Amino acid sequence: MNRKMMIAGNWKMNGLTAEGVSLAKEITDKVKAKKRTCEFVVCPPFTLLSLVKKALRGSKIALGAQDCHWAEKGAHTGDISPAMLRDLGCEYVILGHSERRADHKESSALIGKKVEAAHSFGLKTIVCVGETLEQRESGKTIDVCSKQVRESLPEGVKAANTVIAYEPVWAIGTGKTPTPQEVEEVHAAIRGVLTKKLGKSEADKMRILYGGSVKPSNAKEMLSLEDVDGALIGGASLKADDFIAISDNAGC
Ligand code: PEP
Repeated sequence: MNRKMMIAGNWKMNGLTAEGVSLAKEITDKVKAKKRTCEFVVCPPFTLLSLVKKALRGSKIALGAQDCHWAEKGAHTGDISPAMLRDLGCEYVILGHSERRADHKESSALIGKKVEAAHSFGLKTIVCVGETLEQRESGKTIDVCSKQVRESLPEGVKAANTVIAYEPVWAIGTGKTPTPQEVEEVHAAIRGVLTKKLGKSEADKMRILYGGSVKPSNAKEMLSLEDVDGALIGGASLKADDFIAISDNAGC
């Protein structure tokens, strides 16, 4: 199946104005410097979205946010709506990142509601799932990830508006990664859940990213696996050289 690789950077809560703009400009220049076959997405914090959008001008790099509320507007102090993200020029929003599931007690049901709202405002979603170390060690990885996929995706999602990111919680920011076989096993199981939920044709088209301590040195191994359609990158997306080297090493 010919799925376009995605290289997506999750900047998390990093970057003041000057450094955020300069990182975005550096990435833009490096992406433009050569013909590339993957789709690039950068997801800065809310505060930098407008400025980064300007810095990306003239490139094909898409802008993404890291979360949104499920409502269009209203009495939700401190929240940002999908309509606001669209208004700022976002194309993507990350939903269900493990840091939001843990720090903000977000359930898969809530994430599903956000996914639905994001799609209704024309955003595409990168929906994250992944097991904790305890869950992996007790043999629950496939069950946990499958359940999260089933419950975080509302009816009617399509490959055109949804990307899944498999991110083992214990691999995020730790330098540890699952073995290629472990990654393949989870990605294949997720593809199976998608097939049951959406039918084979849509499931075959949907991209499933791997995330968790991806860096230039392991990009080739991770991104050449069957069913791995790109990477969601945290720490290494904060250095333009590393972010681009991941795509170079993955051959996209
Ligand atoms: C992430 O948080 O989405 C992530 C994958 O982080 P890191 O690459 O730093 O492990």
